[in-house]
Amino acid sequence: MESLGTMEWTEASCATGGAYLLHLFFSEEPAEIAEAKAICRGCPIRIPCLESASARREPWGVWGGELFDRGVAVEFKRPRGRPRKRPIQEPELEPVASASGEAEVA
Ligand code: SF4
Repeated sequence: MESLGTMEWTEASCATGGAYLLHLFFSEEPAEIAEAKAICRGCPIRIPCLESASARREPWGVWGGELFDRGVAVEFKRPRGRPRKRPIQEPELEPVASASGEAEVA
């Protein structure tokens, strides 16, 4: 286990004495991932946690406030399933007249 100086892993914000937060840290759901990251933000050992996760090339999960995917910190995780063959098209927006007579996009 990595050195934390005078701190202990038991001081971690996620060390709740049970595993009831675990699903947040290994979730596929963006809202739960964001919740896990928020827990990390207040953690007193966030930096050593992040450094050790990077050194171990964690395959997945939230560590040190970052989402890991196959050993690297990523901004977003790709959803499951095959990628789309074609990108989703944004709908064409029709200009409409505003009260001032200027054309606006609805
Ligand atoms: S930074 Fe996050 S994952 Fe790491 S010990 Fe703290 S709460 Fe847990």
